[in-house]
Amino acid sequence: MPDCYLCGCSIAKGAGFRRTVQVGERHGRSRKPFSLFPSRLSSSKQFALRTVCKRCADEMDAEEAQRSDLDLDLVKTICVALVLIAIVLPVIIVLSSKR
Ligand SMILES: [Zn+2]
Repeated sequence: MPDCYLCGCSIAKGAGFRRTVQVGERHGRSRKPFSLFPSRLSSSKQFALRTVCKRCADEMDAEEAQRSDLDLDLVKTICVALVLIAIVLPVIIVLSSKR
């Protein structure tokens, strides 16, 4: 019987869900030989497919849906800002050229 990778609860055979989860994180300094600039801190996260229970899978799906909603909101906000600039900018140019 497999255990949930995230919470550790036991999962009945065939009742698990496969999800991509973070399995590690690596921190280090990138070193470039003969570089004039100091070494930079870098970090990378490792992800892999693991078996999780229904509760953890549902939580991950809800977080993912929330994240994509936020991305969509950001895109909408940028579009509205661009439209407003496209409307306001010609007016400003016309008004400033009349002076
Ligand atoms: Zn779990």
